[in-house]
Amino acid sequence: MIKNEYLKSVMEKVQQRNPGETEFFQAVSEVLESLEPVVERHPEYQANGIIERITEPDRIIKFRVAWVDDNNRVQINRGFRVQFNSAIGPYKGGLRFHPSVWEGTLKFLGFEQIFKNSLTGLPIGGGKGGSDFDPKGKSDMEVLRFCQAFMTELYRHIGPDVDVPAGDIGVGGREIGYLYGQYLRIRGSSESGVLTGKGISFGGSLARTEATGYGLCYFTDAMLKANGKSFKDQTVVISGSGNVAQYALVKATELGAKVITLSDSNGYIVDKDGVDFETVKQIKQVKRGRIKEYLETHPNAEYHEGCKGVWTVPCDIALPCATQNELDEESAKILVKNGCTVVSEGANMPSTKEAVKYFLDNKILFGPAKAANAGGVATSELEMRQNSERTSWTFERVDEKLKGIMENIYAKSAAAAKEYGQPGNLVLGANIAGFQKVADAMLAEGIF
Ligand code: NDP
Repeated sequence: MIKNEYLKSVMEKVQQRNPGETEFFQAVSEVLESLEPVVERHPEYQANGIIERITEPDRIIKFRVAWVDDNNRVQINRGFRVQFNSAIGPYKGGLRFHPSVWEGTLKFLGFEQIFKNSLTGLPIGGGKGGSDFDPKGKSDMEVLRFCQAFMTELYRHIGPDVDVPAGDIGVGGREIGYLYGQYLRIRGSSESGVLTGKGISFGGSLARTEATGYGLCYFTDAMLKANGKSFKDQTVVISGSGNVAQYALVKATELGAKVITLSDSNGYIVDKDGVDFETVKQIKQVKRGRIKEYLETHPNAEYHEGCKGVWTVPCDIALPCATQNELDEESAKILVKNGCTVVSEGANMPSTKEAVKYFLDNKILFGPAKAANAGGVATSELEMRQNSERTSWTFERVDEKLKGIMENIYAKSAAAAKEYGQPGNLVLGANIAGFQKVADAMLAEGIF
């Protein structure tokens, strides 16, 4: 509940102006609640309308995407780019291709991205985009034609110093390659810094594929160590089986934990011997199959229908890595009852507001998404840097920098939580630390 009158009035305006955008309200109200002590200490933010401005996107681009399917039928989807805030650098944030995508989803994701990008300490603003196109079940040629049609409009709104999209749900290396190819064709100049998550042969960065999952584990490891714990011999439950989940599995295993679950939107697997990454890679990256197929080579593992059940599997550490609001209060209570003491978010806003409150009230070590999953965007910025230097760093160099950035995000968030009287509350700490840099830049840049 927001108590401060100024913040309350901003929240009411956000709700009036953006009817029905519940995920966006959820993201904004969490940040505004955290900012109460900050606006009280810094009246200049209210005097300069910083909160009103930071909750309103700079612009939203919305367009028709017409493409031809394999049956020669014309299909229509909607494309979007939400350019939320560029006070500290070019807009940066992924593209999501999923049937559930609409303006409200992308506004929540773009808003979160402002603070996440600021927390990395790198000069990147917040944005997000995507389409209600569903790549699942489409042929390679259909995905290619869709990506070309999407970029044919998007290209005029982006650029290496303007707005630099990357991947997200439904947008991986294949899609980024097709999107970049079309940008190159239209612009006729090799501006590799316009997209990140590219293939290594055309300007991609080593370790970008691994970065969000690895970064999540580096952040979680820093949080564990600060509390006298570690990943060693811990049982870990991970949801999702996409990019973030797969590389969280690899790094948590490398750090000594046993990861026993993965899921998709149909169901989840439990492998008490520890989930085998090479099998998952074959299913998800090569065959583009379903997680259920894991049992074909691991008959001792179990498969259960329904993705929510993954939270009923007893564990020490839970890493939600699928999608927003996948972990509700009921699941939070089951996790805690079964002995889970650490939750760290790989997906964006995977825990509902009630679940987050339950974790904080029960002294669970809780790593909020905008801090814990910032490793992907941080490494994207390192990719932009390599592109502008026309060079390519080693895997080790990128990975080392990623680790340093994640440890720093933990330290910054923990320090802000302590400074504002709630030590250990990283939700508060990450929101405040992320906000202040952007707010100060907006103050210095004047009102627009
Ligand atoms: P992928 O598309 O690679 O994988 C998404 C995974 O989540 C799949 O297993 C998918 O299952 C599952 N999933 C998606 N939607 C739902 C749903 N509605 N219910 C249940 N499961 C679902 O995406 P990523 O791994 O890249 O992204 C996962 C999360 O991490 C997202 O929240 C994203 O915003 C966030 N993130 C990603 C970053 C990145 O670098 N990729 C960076 C920072 C955050 P199915 O195949 O059945 O749809």
